[in-house]
Amino acid sequence: MKILNTVDDIREEIKAARKVNKSVGLIPTMGFLHEGHLSLIKNARKENDIVVVSIFVNPTQFGPNEDLESYPRDLDRDRKLVEEAECDLLFVPEVDEMYPSGYKTYVEVEGNITKRLCGESRKGHFKGVTSVVSKLFNIVSPDRAYFGQKDAQQVAVIEQMVRDLNFDIEIIPCPIVREEDGLALSSRNIYLKPMEREDATILSKSLFKAKEMIENGEKDAKIIKDFVTYNIMTVEYAKIDYVEVVSARTLEEIRTIEGDVLIAVAVKIGEPRLIDNIRMEV
Ligand code: AMP
Repeated sequence: MKILNTVDDIREEIKAARKVNKSVGLIPTMGFLHEGHLSLIKNARKENDIVVVSIFVNPTQFGPNEDLESYPRDLDRDRKLVEEAECDLLFVPEVDEMYPSGYKTYVEVEGNITKRLCGESRKGHFKGVTSVVSKLFNIVSPDRAYFGQKDAQQVAVIEQMVRDLNFDIEIIPCPIVREEDGLALSSRNIYLKPMEREDATILSKSLFKAKEMIENGEKDAKIIKDFVTYNIMTVEYAKIDYVEVVSARTLEEIRTIEGDVLIAVAVKIGEPRLIDNIRMEV
């Protein structure tokens, strides 16, 4: 595996691969890798000749009062993990490499798809995401890019951006990887104190129960939303940011549960803000 720190260096590697008609799969990450990230790499490994992983804690997607400084980092450990997962190229740029002085250009997807859910409490977050992902797409020009369904809104926003800007890249959404007790893996989980870690399982438990209710015929989105909300409120350390029942593609609120439905939650458990969701075709 080669580690590249500059845009020029990774471009040279990609150019060489393209010359011999190799396909390229990209997995953008912010590092502190876990089995969720590794599942994306495994999927990419099956479908591409060259697998590129990027590790970049992107400052433009963090708000002023968010955890940019304290976001967990461990490049040595990450390097070993991606190497074991048979990644070919690991791209680890510094902030100055991605945003040199005088940087002025951003990519923004408009409308409710970025304004609602995480967009409401994390103003500017998706503008940072779509800007950095566009840059990575232009730098790596992959055939396929892999994103976790854990960040369901991010997947919907990126799919919208790819359609709108005619990126010739296939977006591959990958299923959520969970701990045995249901907690969705997240780099932020290490900040959960033991009691909070117990409470954190309420997210997936509530979502799984809601799924069961829908499978048993519940069609009223408000009943599902209220059920998940009250369920989460039963644990001590949970502070709800949102519980939403929406169309998975547009993220518009729905009243009746039908079609491609997403139940998404964001909850602060102590300090860390966790997100989780369930997507269902009804
Ligand atoms: P991050 O490093 O948190 O920006 O995540 C990088 C990629 O890994 C994103 O596409 C995430 O959606 C994905 N990811 C993070 N956690 C999980 C998980 N538990 N299961 C599947 N994919 C995940």
